[in-house]
Amino acid sequence: LNIAAIREREQGERRVALIPLVAQRIQHLGCTTALETEAGSASFYPDASYKNTTIQSDVGTLLASADIVLAVNPPTPDMIARMRSGSILISFIYGRTHPDVVKALQAQKITCFAMEQIPRISRAQAMDALSSQATLAGYYAVLLGTVHMPKILPMMTTAVGSLRAAQVLVMGLGVAGLQALATAGRLGAVTEGYDVRPETKEEAHSLGAKFVETGVDATGQGGYARELTADEKIKVKGVLSDHIARADLIVTTAAVPGRKAPRLIDAEQISKMKPGSVIIDMGAEGGGNCEGTVAGQSVQVGPTLLVGPVNLPSCLSEQASELYSKNILNLLQQIIKDGKLSLDMTDEVIAKTLVTHDGKITNDAVREAVE
Ligand code: NAD
Repeated sequence: LNIAAIREREQGERRVALIPLVAQRIQHLGCTTALETEAGSASFYPDASYKNTTIQSDVGTLLASADIVLAVNPPTPDMIARMRSGSILISFIYGRTHPDVVKALQAQKITCFAMEQIPRISRAQAMDALSSQATLAGYYAVLLGTVHMPKILPMMTTAVGSLRAAQVLVMGLGVAGLQALATAGRLGAVTEGYDVRPETKEEAHSLGAKFVETGVDATGQGGYARELTADEKIKVKGVLSDHIARADLIVTTAAVPGRKAPRLIDAEQISKMKPGSVIIDMGAEGGGNCEGTVAGQSVQVGPTLLVGPVNLPSCLSEQASELYSKNILNLLQQIIKDGKLSLDMTDEVIAKTLVTHDGKITNDAVREAVE
């Protein structure tokens, strides 16, 4: 089997789906590896660091000779059309919002594994790319906040008196939020966490943070959150406003599967924040957790700088690529036996991650959105 990784085309994307170490491990599985020229350069993996790997400058030739293509972002329909019919693609796909990509995969009879569909079960943790990327993003969000703040996070005793520790509030305690809470705590901030799933209280406490109790439980299916009702939103706002007003830095990470990012902070709440406060809205790409967020920009809204970062994992491209590539390796180990393809369609991880196969859309939610 020949396994090839392409260079990412999306603007601002620095990650690569195959790092040199993983290329070697794939070779140990009895496969050959190929890479589009300079695909790893932006994440500091130069072509020369890929041993025993074909470096190919012509993407058409690369795609046509690959049995399995690896990517970070969904390849364009044009690129999919250049893949071999019946070959495999492993990438983030987000099929519900990329119908043109899904149709191209169908037309070309590509067997496509969507990395965002890896089930959140213990056995699949080593393949869970959403978690590996969210962990790095949560860490980076706090650092990004600190460089925009007019103050430091820890308490500091100086010759002219003591500086008070900053207050950091993290809203949404999934994978990214917990890492943000841990990072802010490590940097010496006084930390508070909030989520609509009460089980996150214990996790916040284990990181030395306080948990903001709102009395609302919006635990949804599969460990995810559900949308709040209108009454619940009012109740939550009543409790949260004081905490928002006290914070020097807020990181918001809230998401509900298949929905626009929930609104956690409105303009009125921002207007009561401290001068010089900063919000890092990690929901920016999904429409924003805060009123006034502009994806990809920083805007001053009254007293607060509202930062709407996009693609935070790409800012940590070296290690984001390392973790993503290892996630992919763990998936490959499920589908390759003795250098040959061995697809067990009854395996939960394979069945749930598969989006298209043999000209059909195999994921119900994606099929509904596309057809
Ligand atoms: P996510 O990105 O879907 O959402 C981020 C957080 O936002 C979640 O904690 C969610 O509860 C919260 N949220 C949603 N609406 C909110 C609102 N209105 N106000 C405040 N918070 C709100 O989450 P994720 O990081 O992908 O994690 C989702 C779930 O999957 C979690 O339960 C997590 O523990 C679980 N998980 C399990 C595994 C595993 O077992 N292998 C791996 C990763 C994640």
